[in-house]
Amino acid sequence: MFPDDNASGRELLERFRSWLQERHLPATRPRDMIAAIVLTSREHLSVDGIQRRLREDGASIGLATIYRSLDTLVESGLVRAHDFGEGFRRFEPMHASAQHGHLVCSRCGQVTEFSTDRFERLLPIVSDEHGFQHHRHRVEIHGLCRVCRDADISAVARAGRPR
Ligand SMILES: [Zn+2]
Ligand SMILES: [Zn+2]
Repeated sequence: MFPDDNASGRELLERFRSWLQERHLPATRPRDMIAAIVLTSREHLSVDGIQRRLREDGASIGLATIYRSLDTLVESGLVRAHDFGEGFRRFEPMHASAQHGHLVCSRCGQVTEFSTDRFERLLPIVSDEHGFQHHRHRVEIHGLCRVCRDADISAVARAGRPR
């Protein structure tokens, strides 16, 4: 979705480090590792996903530290927390070009992004019609992803096959 993802991820990481410095907050190693994972990710990571990445990098960092670091990242405005109704939150870096909607699969939890350009043009008009001042919005579509739909279709085909 974002061709400049890694460059802009690294830029976000630099901005986060300066943000910590300005506030005289310690740039601890675990906090920096968590920030690097979330800010350069192309996915919408859950806490589980973040912990898995940390383990792959050979770091064992407790959940409390992960949650605290995520709170700090969200507070910095460089990361957004999403609640897609799965019972846990997912975290996403806020790139400059981050205006997009989400397709959320209710079965496997896959999150796909799509451009909301068409909505962006329409939303000020809708707001205007209601005398409403628009601050922000989010577009979320819940349903079944292609993989889960295909699995359903082949299951039906198998069940319908004569013995
Ligand atoms: Zn799915
Ligand atoms: Zn997203």
